[in-house]
Amino acid sequence: MKKRIVSLLLAMVFTISTFSSTVFAAEHADINYSEIEYEHVDPAEFYKVTDLVITQAADKNNYSSVESLISKLVDFWYRVNTQYTLAVILQSKDASDATYNEEYLYSFNLDTEILHSLADTLEIILESPCAGTVYDVLDESELTYILQQVDAGADDVELSSLMSAEKEFINQYYKTANKEYTAVVNGEAMTLDGIKNAKLPEDIYKDAIREIHKNKNSALGEVYINLVKTRAKIARLCGYESYTDYCYENTYFRDFTSEDVTALSTLVKEYIAPINKKLNEIITNIDFSSLNELDYSPETLISREKGVIEKEFPELLESFNYMYDHGFYDIGADDNKADTGFTSLLLDYNVPFMFNKPYGDFNDVWILVHETGHYNRFFISRDILPMLELSEIDSQGLELLFYDFYDDMIGDDKCTDLLKIKLLKSWIRSIIDGCMHDEFQQIIYHHPDMTLSQMNQLYYNLCLEYGYTPTSGYSDAELGESYAWTETIHNFTDPLYYISYAVSMIPAWELWMQAQTDFEEAKERYLQLVNREQADTYMQTLSDLGFGNTFDEATIKELAHSLGEVVDGIELKKVEKPVFSDIANHWARDSIEALADEGIARGTGDKKFEPDKSATLGMYVLMLGKAVDAEVVGLKLENSVEDLTTNYSLYIVWADANNLLTESGDASPSSTITREELAVMLYKYVEQTGRDITVTESEKFADSNQIDVWAKDAVSFVEESKLMYGNENNCFNPQQIATRAEVSSVIYRLDKLLC
Ligand SMILES: [Zn+2]
Repeated sequence: MKKRIVSLLLAMVFTISTFSSTVFAAEHADINYSEIEYEHVDPAEFYKVTDLVITQAADKNNYSSVESLISKLVDFWYRVNTQYTLAVILQSKDASDATYNEEYLYSFNLDTEILHSLADTLEIILESPCAGTVYDVLDESELTYILQQVDAGADDVELSSLMSAEKEFINQYYKTANKEYTAVVNGEAMTLDGIKNAKLPEDIYKDAIREIHKNKNSALGEVYINLVKTRAKIARLCGYESYTDYCYENTYFRDFTSEDVTALSTLVKEYIAPINKKLNEIITNIDFSSLNELDYSPETLISREKGVIEKEFPELLESFNYMYDHGFYDIGADDNKADTGFTSLLLDYNVPFMFNKPYGDFNDVWILVHETGHYNRFFISRDILPMLELSEIDSQGLELLFYDFYDDMIGDDKCTDLLKIKLLKSWIRSIIDGCMHDEFQQIIYHHPDMTLSQMNQLYYNLCLEYGYTPTSGYSDAELGESYAWTETIHNFTDPLYYISYAVSMIPAWELWMQAQTDFEEAKERYLQLVNREQADTYMQTLSDLGFGNTFDEATIKELAHSLGEVVDGIELKKVEKPVFSDIANHWARDSIEALADEGIARGTGDKKFEPDKSATLGMYVLMLGKAVDAEVVGLKLENSVEDLTTNYSLYIVWADANNLLTESGDASPSSTITREELAVMLYKYVEQTGRDITVTESEKFADSNQIDVWAKDAVSFVEESKLMYGNENNCFNPQQIATRAEVSSVIYRLDKLLC
């Protein structure tokens, strides 16, 4: 079978490194994207040359002529492939344009046809007296790539018909997925839009939504069952017991096995899923709305990214500047664009092109960084055979190395924490979802006779095992069935592909961990990875660069520990940004809002702060403790009055242990504090930090005689250090109960004083 030849050549890739490439110079074309025009290629010339080269190759004397003819053929394929990529870009720019659609289909078919024909021709030449010419013309990865395209079923009627059947079912999938589905509500068939607009009672609404998804699931499920059965037959015919193993080896050329991934999935359920669950609980209490107010216009983002690259990643500047200066990108907003983002290589020019349809929200920030990682790799290595798992580290690794520069990317450091939480969530999810989708498919391909209902149950149970709650619109809790998996296109079109994103995220996070202690070293390791040889494989490359083994428990435990710490950090920072309705004209507004932004000041509920209400000792120590990052264990996420009371007590214990309270006062969290007591506690805190607290004047205020003896120095100190002020009559009012606004402003000033 031809497949064997492919494997043989793949093996050669690792041992022979003396191929030379005579077809292409490695330079990048000096051209602007706007100067490039799409061309409808006629293949006639290609076939003429094909016939000629096959005839000539029979005679060794034609060696040099055969060599130049092969060059012509390869050149031709690169030209066709380039036109295909251009057609993809044009079609993505205007998904509604029928001409682009036609050209896209034409060039896709032509590319496939020419590549297969080229592969068949090269196979013939490789068995001729002129075999050496093939190695003269093509370098190792080019040859590997081309020969992989040999249709494994070309000379096997049964396999060939199974493969066309698979293609046919994929076409059926697209048709079935694009149909409109309905649910019967009060005897009337309604579409999804209809249901959403009908203002139905909640239970009827929910049932209707579920019915639509169930109907879609039954239609798509039928197609899927056919696909699974066909794929199982393909695998068996090629000597594999399960399609999973066939696919891992022959579609993705992975150097790890399905058993490795099964072990990883178990670890991810145990260590990573609980962290995700915790993060989700925290996220429900966070108000992300201020993230929506930022400027995400493509021009702004790309110029900010340029700034970060110039400063922090000068190594990426050449590829970035080429893209920027020559216009090899399109990330502008346009309704006609297809909903997609990608980076592809235009082979003829040896230049990649970046495309994205922006969401107009924070997602555009990471997508730009992600695609920049791909762009740079394609730019420095004409990678026609990207190993998916490694290629995703180019992109995800860059996203994670950008961690400390996202404030520059969004131009607002107040929202950076919010953005990072969103990113963290997607990073963790790529690990979990990758494993979950792989486990789901592995089990099905192992039991290709499963019914749709069994598949739905399997997915439902996996959701629970991975810590997700199946959403009611997509599942039936009584039956224990989920319909959501048929919404994932890759289950149909690219089986077992998702795991690549999980196994790339694990080393990418390791880069993040390293960057926390040594950014330059982490970046250096990332660049080494990006500069890998085209034929390098996942396990070997990572091991050479000293990364942990993705499938080892120790690696996942370390990853979980690090992710857990970041999540705990968010929990304690409480980055929610409350907006208070009752401080608009209050003198302490700026301090209160600044502290609220940092999660230090909390409202009294119902969007109120009640600034003129008496402060409590609990409030003071909690704000002080948070402002100075006190190390207090056992703190709760402040979701309820009970949680808050627990935290008050914990901070009081901390304050007491550090001698930060007054000696006389009541140490219960709900007790009020006088202004002089507040002064004393501030004084004690500053004293404890080792700062200079000598005071010069002790009788400054008109009502100094009312200040208790034990508070005199403290009051002078807070006045001189501008932590507290007297009123317009120069009275300090030492016995007055401090208000919430006063405590907020002193904490705010203390924070400024100490930093
Ligand atoms: Zn990517």
